[in-house]
Amino acid sequence: MELIKSLEALGFGVDIANADVVVVGGGGAASRAAVSAAQAGAKVLVLAKAPVGKGGSTVHGASEIMSMGASGYGSRDDSPDVHYRDTMQAASGFIDPELVRVLAEDAPERIRDLINWGVPFDRVGGEDYKLIQSDFGSFARALGVAGKTGKAFVNALAEQAALLGVETRAPVALVDLLRDQAGTVVGVLGMDIDTHRLLVVHAPAVVLGTGGAHGLFTQQVSTAEMIGDGQAICFRHGAELVNMEFHQFGPAMVHPYVQLFSKSCFVLHPKMTNRLGHEFLPGYLPAGVSAEEAMDEKVFPFTISNPSRYIDIAIASEISQGRGSERGAVYFDFAHVDPERMARTIPNTMRWMAAKGLDPRRDKLEVGIAFQCLNGGVRMTSADASSTLPGLFVIGELAGGVRGPDRPGGNSLAEGQVFGHRAGNGAARYARERMTSRPVDGDVLVGRMENVLRPNVDLAPAPRASQLREVMQTHCLVEKNEAGMTMALQTVQQINQLLAQGGGATAATALDVLSLENMATTAGVILQACLRRKESRSSHYRVDYPERDDARYSHAVVMQRNGDGIRYTDLVYPPSDASAVKAAQS
Ligand SMILES: Cc1cc2nc3c(=O)[nH]c(=O)nc-3n(C[C@H](O)[C@H](O)[C@H](O)COP(=O)(O)OP(=O)(O)OC[C@H]3O[C@@H](n4cnc5c(N)ncnc54)[C@H](O)[C@@H]3O)c2cc1C
Repeated sequence: MELIKSLEALGFGVDIANADVVVVGGGGAASRAAVSAAQAGAKVLVLAKAPVGKGGSTVHGASEIMSMGASGYGSRDDSPDVHYRDTMQAASGFIDPELVRVLAEDAPERIRDLINWGVPFDRVGGEDYKLIQSDFGSFARALGVAGKTGKAFVNALAEQAALLGVETRAPVALVDLLRDQAGTVVGVLGMDIDTHRLLVVHAPAVVLGTGGAHGLFTQQVSTAEMIGDGQAICFRHGAELVNMEFHQFGPAMVHPYVQLFSKSCFVLHPKMTNRLGHEFLPGYLPAGVSAEEAMDEKVFPFTISNPSRYIDIAIASEISQGRGSERGAVYFDFAHVDPERMARTIPNTMRWMAAKGLDPRRDKLEVGIAFQCLNGGVRMTSADASSTLPGLFVIGELAGGVRGPDRPGGNSLAEGQVFGHRAGNGAARYARERMTSRPVDGDVLVGRMENVLRPNVDLAPAPRASQLREVMQTHCLVEKNEAGMTMALQTVQQINQLLAQGGGATAATALDVLSLENMATTAGVILQACLRRKESRSSHYRVDYPERDDARYSHAVVMQRNGDGIRYTDLVYPPSDASAVKAAQS
């Protein structure tokens, strides 16, 4: 009661809820966790920041080939073991072999669940499943649903959740974790975005699936409410984060609507011009690499591992040197491409464009460099998606452990289903074992909320958030260097200094300030991770350190709050063979 009285005394309206398991997030990972926890007999409450079915990458993400990877639906030579090896090969040294083994072994069963729940995976001629060969996959093993695969997952999972009596409250944003005197997580504090009332949820087990940090960038291919809240909140509570220097981004149409451009769009060899009408790509290609070769090799996301790197570098450079459009983009033109070939190669994209009144052979498309997803996250420490905070389970894009510098396409959707299921089961079991409710130690939380309400006329959250997005877009995507990232970090530090003087908010505007604080925290963590890795590897391209440096940097780095600073610890995962024993089923 103490916590509630203190929050009310500050002027907040407070509601209270109880659950065995509270799941935060409305994406693929969280939805799967909610269903599995309810199947295991738990009373489940879901909180999601965006209205149901509207927020996050699973629901909103769309690409020509959006799909989930799992062996067993294609070649007989493919298997969980091959899937495991592909994943390890893409990121060996940076990902947890035991968790990757679980991912590869469970993924086929999670696809089977989705099929049983009515997800209409694409088929060829109405029979065999249509399989996509993703980057870093040695077999075509990814299944999709007409390019909007995640949406089909979440729709099916929502039906199951409703049948199981899962309660969902949205739009409600996670504000903080509740912990007891021993430091165990015992619930969450949320805020209803419409009414601005706080919601104290007491729950013995908490599952976070709050996704990535798209809202830290001006150009991104998901939804803007995803600003790294979960990462920031976990970091403040002392959880370990891993691989935070690795994130994915690449070319995406940013106007007239937002659309990721995957490999299939590049094999059509679009003409790429800048604001002056100049075809710029050839100027960035080294001798011996043709524009056609670079486009044929294009993978999404940006990686320096192959010649397609020059495309992303060329687009980013044209924009940063002032030769882009007003919206920070270059132009793609498909006028010269045979219409039948376009219809055959990018049928989903053509359909979506037609629905928006766009004809890529007639209209010039504005293409920028957009953030797609984080590969690092809050470190998962076991196959049930536990974190380093007792009582807290972390899943999906929020979590870290199975995505490194590169990851096979299709693995993120698979990860959400596999670890969502395991976390749901694990959380239900954990909740059963710890049913007695323990008092919340709310002193730090109340102090934080007091500070948010402290007058501060110098803090205007919206312009500060835009400034942060601008510097992250300019300095923390394709071409990174010490000077640019240091400058971006100074912006973070200025925001933190302003916030320390008070948030200047009322109960109705508190979330704007809390959001700015989370944005600054997560951006700061990402920037410091990138600054520390003085080498280039996959998506992490340092113009000032262009070579890969295995002698110093061939392993993952864990970041953990240490007072006002960060403790860095090298994490050398065991070699891949060590986990050859089949992971225990949960
Ligand atoms: C365009 C695009 C194409 C992609 N293609 C592929 C692909 O082909 N294959 C693949 O495997 N992966 C792909 N990905 C990546 C993959 O879609 C995501 O990594 C994955 O869906 C993330 O799932 P999630 O459940 O962790 O998070 P999300 O689906 O992003 O959901 C996060 C949820 O958390 C909510 N939330 C955020 N903050 C808060 C808060 N403070 N309080 C409460 N709720 C909060 C959000 O509103 C949202 O509901 C793609 C991503 C994009 C954007």
